[in-house]
Amino acid sequence: MNVQRHEMRFCPSCASPLALLTVAEDGGPKERLRCPACGWTHWNNPTPVLAAVVECSDRGGQILLARNAAWSGRMFALITGFMEAGESPEDGVAREVLEETALSVDATHLIGVYDFQRMNQLIVAYHVVARGEIRLSPELAEYRLFEPASVRCWRAGTGYALADWLRARGHQPQFIELPGRAS
Ligand SMILES: [Zn+2]
Repeated sequence: MNVQRHEMRFCPSCASPLALLTVAEDGGPKERLRCPACGWTHWNNPTPVLAAVVECSDRGGQILLARNAAWSGRMFALITGFMEAGESPEDGVAREVLEETALSVDATHLIGVYDFQRMNQLIVAYHVVARGEIRLSPELAEYRLFEPASVRCWRAGTGYALADWLRARGHQPQFIELPGRAS
């Protein structure tokens, strides 16, 4: 999942320049980017992101992790993507796994919901059982298959999801420290 971040500068309803304005809300006075002309408010709510621990049922239960083509280091991570309008999170995570790896998903199980404030995201993580021939989307540079017991977790949203899934399977998760990625 590649994310290009844009700054919100104009009202999407009337195209006036937005301004930081303080308005009384349910929780008290709050400064937010708002439209002085029509009152539109940029709430900047966190975006739900779907993440998948992909278990390959036709590869001895190995876990597929992939490296994003936009990343500089050799870091392998869960398959992630944004939910689309009109789909359930279960359908969305199956769609993302299919789009990014070509694997077909047979089952999805919720692992949990994880905080990821650095990116203003909320991670909804699933354990996904999948099979088929692996063909990566151009977004992903490479993948690796790991035995669950040998996989290592990172200390950020999706890494905690992977750790919780490992614990539920009776493994003690091993963590790696990523320079400059503390969160
Ligand atoms: Zn406006």
